[in-house]
Amino acid sequence: MRTPTIFHYARIADALRHAGTDWQALDELIGAVPDLPCRVSDPDVFFPGEGARFAGRRAIRDERARIAGLCSGCPVRTECLASALLRGEIYGSWGGVCQPDFQLLQQLWEERVPRSARPLAGSAAVKETR
Ligand code: SF4
Repeated sequence: MRTPTIFHYARIADALRHAGTDWQALDELIGAVPDLPCRVSDPDVFFPGEGARFAGRRAIRDERARIAGLCSGCPVRTECLASALLRGEIYGSWGGVCQPDFQLLQQLWEERVPRSARPLAGSAAVKETR
């Protein structure tokens, strides 16, 4: 596992504020926001693929900047990230967080949220939110 940085700890702390929330309630909130940047983007740009490799810091930095740019100005980044973590997403870019960072956040989430509080983790519950 890569070593988390202040960026990862800050984002997971934000997401953990929603740990006891129903992900569907978060998605309703997200769905009510007009003109989200991701609604005008090809969904594929958020999904580099399950086996995508980002070898080296430069590749991760570039991907981080690409996704941050796509989600720039989104007012529900924390809710988007928390919903994906609650749903047990394992890849893709969520909440303005690129896939390699999201996968690291997912591990931090699992360390901090008891399995009993993650009813969807490990299930096939994946919702199309974009
Ligand atoms: S943070 Fe989530 S909801 Fe906001 S633009 Fe990015 S993918 Fe869409």
